[in-house]
Amino acid sequence: MTQIPFLSIVAPCHNEEEGLREFCRRAAAAAHSVAGDAFELILVDDGSSDRTWEIISSLAADVPQVLGIRLLRNHGHQLASTAGLSASRGERVLLIDADLQDPPELLLMMIPIMERGADVVYGQRTRRQGETWFKLASASLFYRALSKLASVTIPRDTGDFRLMRRRVVDILLAMPERDRFIRGMVSWIGGRQVALPYERDARFAGTTKYPLRKMINFALDAITSFSTTPLRISTWLGMMSAGVAIALLIYTFVRWLEGETVTGWSSIMAAVSAFSAIQLICIGIIGEYLGRLVQESKKRPMFMVETIVRGSEHAELSIA
Ligand code: UDP
Ligand code: MG
Repeated sequence: MTQIPFLSIVAPCHNEEEGLREFCRRAAAAAHSVAGDAFELILVDDGSSDRTWEIISSLAADVPQVLGIRLLRNHGHQLASTAGLSASRGERVLLIDADLQDPPELLLMMIPIMERGADVVYGQRTRRQGETWFKLASASLFYRALSKLASVTIPRDTGDFRLMRRRVVDILLAMPERDRFIRGMVSWIGGRQVALPYERDARFAGTTKYPLRKMINFALDAITSFSTTPLRISTWLGMMSAGVAIALLIYTFVRWLEGETVTGWSSIMAAVSAFSAIQLICIGIIGEYLGRLVQESKKRPMFMVETIVRGSEHAELSIA
């Protein structure tokens, strides 16, 4: 395909062998109904250990619109999405999960909203099926904390499922940070962003690739890259504990003037542990930022591509 496609669909896939063919069928059907044949479906294999790449290669051989990208190893959801976006050429780009939690058919509603002038149409989940109460509660807490802390308004209950205009994607790709929180970065770009409410389905197959550890890391990435409020909070914590220390000192001094020495192992231990806890927390907060600064300063490539397939062409690449 030499001309610019009307639409690109980008889907990161990590161990999605069970649902991938069904995803491809539904995504291609939805794309076909809005773009005819003028679309491309970019499937990024993010270091899967199952048959995901085999399926992507065979889909690419069968469907001319499919472009398969295999990353050298697992880079995580956000970087896999970035790899797909950077390969996309369409005038509009739909970023979507490959597990069919985000229905591709929503494209039929997203495209007309974009035609009316939106730069970004993002899916906003009204109900999420098949997710544990813990996932729902932690997600809700996270979005609440983020909206309090972040300097840009990042809409609640949105994932990365969104249709973006080419110029938004180009700006997104020009942002050099390696810790990528795509939904926040897109909000930061601004322009006309429109929400489209939808019900999030349960996974078609397989299990979530976001265990608690990854969710916490993801939340920390989001907060540190969109807010420096935690640093400010640590300053306040320091000032507050200095206040408490001064009050304790005055109290001890006054008691001493009254001829009485304050004694007690318990009170000393309580004060020492409380203050050292506060210090460690503050150092931890600074460390979160500093660590990310170190990672960014290395300027390593964001992702490494092993192979790209379109049709029966295979291209071996080492780095992108
Ligand atoms: N994913 C990925 N790399 C990873 C983890 C996940 O490309 O390291 C993909 C995954 O295949 C899916 C999307 O990112 O298409 C969202 O992941 P998942 O469904 O596990 O997250 P959840 O919907 O539970 O938040
Ligand atoms: Mg999912």
